[in-house]
Amino acid sequence: MLITNISFEVIALDNRYANQCIACTVTSCKHHNDQADFCSLAKITVGLHDKRPAEYPCTDCRSFQLKSDYEMMD
Ligand code: SF4
Repeated sequence: MLITNISFEVIALDNRYANQCIACTVTSCKHHNDQADFCSLAKITVGLHDKRPAEYPCTDCRSFQLKSDYEMMD
């Protein structure tokens, strides 16, 4: 039997991988590669938080997850 439809997904085990297709400066995210300012995920999801998006601040990375050791500034 010939298998014709195989898909692969890179699973990032930690944030040492730098996906150079996803530049990112969100250092509070656990997926951020702090050495290279790239995301360590193979893919991300971007969504909206504004019903009528007109500029980039209306968008969000839905793959964001807060670093467990990140300290919030006041
Ligand atoms: S998941 Fe989103 S916010 Fe987090 S590092 Fe990747 S691109 Fe940046």
